[in-house]
Amino acid sequence: MQGLMMDYQLTLTPLMERARRLFPKKEIVTKAGPGLERYTYAQMTERVARLANALEKLGVKRGDRVATFAWNNARHLELYWAVPCMGAVLHPLNLRLPGDQLAYIVAHADDQILFVDPSLLPAVEKLAPHLKSVKHFVVMGDKVPEGTTLSPVSAYEDLLKNASPEYPWPNLHENDAAAMCYTSGTTGNPKGVVYSHRAIYLHSLGISMGDSFGLSERDALMPVVPMFHVLAWGTPFACTMLGAKIVFPGPHLQPRDLAELIQAEKVTLTAGVPTLWMGLLHLLETERYDLSSLRGMIVGGAAAPRSMIEAYEKKHGLTVMHAWGMTEMTPLGTVSRLKSYQLDLPEAERFAIRAKQGTAVPGVEIRAMDESGKEISWDGKAFGELQVRGPWIASSYYNDERSADSFKDGWFRTGDVVTIDSEGFIMIVDRSKDVIKSGGEWISSQDLENAIMAHPQVLEAAVIAVAHPKWQERPLACVVPKPDFKATLTKEDILKHLSARFTKMYLPDDVVFIEAVPKTSVGKFDKKVLRAQFKDYKLPE
Ligand code: AMP
Repeated sequence: MQGLMMDYQLTLTPLMERARRLFPKKEIVTKAGPGLERYTYAQMTERVARLANALEKLGVKRGDRVATFAWNNARHLELYWAVPCMGAVLHPLNLRLPGDQLAYIVAHADDQILFVDPSLLPAVEKLAPHLKSVKHFVVMGDKVPEGTTLSPVSAYEDLLKNASPEYPWPNLHENDAAAMCYTSGTTGNPKGVVYSHRAIYLHSLGISMGDSFGLSERDALMPVVPMFHVLAWGTPFACTMLGAKIVFPGPHLQPRDLAELIQAEKVTLTAGVPTLWMGLLHLLETERYDLSSLRGMIVGGAAAPRSMIEAYEKKHGLTVMHAWGMTEMTPLGTVSRLKSYQLDLPEAERFAIRAKQGTAVPGVEIRAMDESGKEISWDGKAFGELQVRGPWIASSYYNDERSADSFKDGWFRTGDVVTIDSEGFIMIVDRSKDVIKSGGEWISSQDLENAIMAHPQVLEAAVIAVAHPKWQERPLACVVPKPDFKATLTKEDILKHLSARFTKMYLPDDVVFIEAVPKTSVGKFDKKVLRAQFKDYKLPE
């Protein structure tokens, strides 16, 4: 047919250009030590052009991978734009991974240049002998610290000073690679996911839609989720596109730092995993902050406990926006927003819905399959493995034989076990490896954890499967009491609390008290570690 639309490539360059032209005055703030560093999109975009020139001088070519080892800060944002827009591929490395996995990832991605925050230099110096693909290191500061063993090495600010502020951005194809991240927390080596310009472009629009997070120019967003964790959930790209203020916490991630930053910079939206917000909630029990600027806290990466959503809303008037996504999905999949006709439901029903992971955002299709490969019905009861497809969902892992297990007939198998209710809200019952198989029944460890964490004397709880001679597996609850209740909270208290909601068959066979729930490199509960610790645990008869 004639007269169709332009063949317009969905690349990131015009989104950056938009910020430069329309929002030169808007601010980007980074917490650095006791103070704050602030500058504007005008300065940021000029520095991005200088950075692209500098990268070219260092020999970076189309398709080359440029790695970062950095906290959430403005220089990291500059790399987010310069690298993809010059046609190279941004690769933020997970700071918390063990050295052998980092060395594997850098070699697998064939990273050519590595940018490192000055405070993280010692870790990179230790790793450097194993980073054979890296041809040049750049310290993200004014100067190269004396005595560094990195070589060849430059200082970020020297590179920028000596570079032109004009860069002829190339015409790219929307399917060119823009960035890559590796999955975390799995067994075996991490798997790489490559994001195209098109995926990030569409995802930026997707997270800005009113029924997603409704991101807009009026927002001041604080990404607490690390920039190496699925590109800080795509928020730096969307904020720049919209000219929204960004507030970076740097390495300062303690609840008090976050509360102070929200208050001082009038943050309207935050994004991060539940553990962070549990910590902040705990702080708010004893200290007062004015957090009234906040219109939403985007919580994902792990289930947001209902008790947390309720406590924020009822005690502090703060709204948790519960969302689900994955590294393989750029990452957004679902958001839990009440539909208009659900707003008048009784309070308990409303919170029950908001604790679910939500409905698929436009652009993401979902279905869930039972063990026999049949699609489950949307009745809120049947369990199935969630599968997804859409324009910002990967079609395979980068150079990885394991792709065939997860990507089949155009759908990505998420490994998350879910129910889907008649309104289309998914509820993550568990990761398929966390679900507890007791006799013929499946018990959701997440459901039990959320219920235990609703106990007023509990700080955190993780529930794992322990082998059982008769039932195959039974639940064991690992509970962290709040500091004031360490000596007094008992197993009976927990079981009594749970028996109000669960029948006997779902109750944990035992409760153990632990110091802290182990966390993965991105701050989620690491049940692998607990399972190993309690591998030979004898449950009471
Ligand atoms: P990652 O790729 O590190 O972001 O991890 C993705 C996995 O985190 C998903 O497959 C889920 O198992 C889990 N996850 C993410 N968001 C949520 C959520 N809101 N509730 C429960 N689990 C979640």
